[in-house]
Amino acid sequence: MTIPELNLLTRSAISDTEWSDSRWHMRNRITSATKLRRWVRVTPEEEAAIIESTVKYRWSVTPYYASLMDPDDPSCPIRQQAIPASSEMGEYPGAEVDPVGDTIYRKTNRIVHKYPDRVIMLITEACPVYCRHCTRKFHTTNREGSYFRDGEGESFADDMRYIAEHPEIRDVLLTGGDPLSYRDDKLEGIISQLRAIPSVEIIRIGSRFPVLLPQRVTDEFCEMLAKYHPVWLNTHFNHPKEITAEAAAAVDRLLRHGIPVGNQTVLLKGINDSVATMRRLMTELLRIRVRPYYIYHCDNVTGVSHFMTTVDKGLEIMDGLQGHITGFGVPQYVVTTTIGKIPLVRPYHRLTREGMQLRNFRGEELLLSGPAYPTADPRPAE
Ligand code: SF4
Repeated sequence: MTIPELNLLTRSAISDTEWSDSRWHMRNRITSATKLRRWVRVTPEEEAAIIESTVKYRWSVTPYYASLMDPDDPSCPIRQQAIPASSEMGEYPGAEVDPVGDTIYRKTNRIVHKYPDRVIMLITEACPVYCRHCTRKFHTTNREGSYFRDGEGESFADDMRYIAEHPEIRDVLLTGGDPLSYRDDKLEGIISQLRAIPSVEIIRIGSRFPVLLPQRVTDEFCEMLAKYHPVWLNTHFNHPKEITAEAAAAVDRLLRHGIPVGNQTVLLKGINDSVATMRRLMTELLRIRVRPYYIYHCDNVTGVSHFMTTVDKGLEIMDGLQGHITGFGVPQYVVTTTIGKIPLVRPYHRLTREGMQLRNFRGEELLLSGPAYPTADPRPAE
């Protein structure tokens, strides 16, 4: 079925068979204000931004993700992540297309080797939804971008050879774009080649499909992955609204096939930059058995800078998580740079002449002293 021209289509207008089929969602992706109008009341500002920004940036939204949007509220966190804004075209001081240094560390068409024991493999530039805050906006979304230029279809021989010739690489992260944009058989072809390299211990997949189109995470897909264990999957929930029954079911399918699921959140102004939202997000993730892994400080990426908030805000949020929710529900807050990911933490201890002064999440203090604890001014031995 093709989606009928309706004002404000609801989920119930679509059959269960179609709704549960990821190919139906991909065929019916929203790529114009006219199509978006079937799901939300598009504001004049949104419509103008769609027209202005789609000259430069790709845009598409799955019907599933559109169904999570508040039809009447343009500040809805799903709308802000998925619908272009005029700010994307603004000029921001220091903004760069690659502030994290992918291009510095790119060794082959697909391999970025930044850390000693692991690499990322950029296998595609395609995504089901082109998130407006994407760190790789140049690669995934910019119409004149892509690190591949025309090379996405090139053979993987050089990439696999690079990994095989560097036995220190024990961990390969497939990313993109979104690797699940490929069909299962194509993905299996890549994963099976990696598994044939003896030094590759773990394979990780970075995918936002559990959030943007969880129907793509089928039992068949999970069975395929389970043949190549140990396989891990990291996804990218940014707001509690994204944790739906469909998303929970996709996570459950992965877990039942032995694939641990972690989450990376990007700190986004106006979307999740409050203690209350982040607490709710992290505890909801734990409820569906997803382990929060990172909160990324939003990078100063061209076309994304308007989502940046301050590091002070990020630290305030971390103070609102640490001690307040289950310990393993507290992710690490990091800033990604050309020299790697740097953890950002407000210290929970300071050194005094007497020993180590600790502060807990309530602001209560305690001194630990004795030979095991450092002091600010160690006395020279007599
Ligand atoms: S799915 Fe991931 S890679 Fe694709 S646009 Fe969204 S954030 Fe970027």
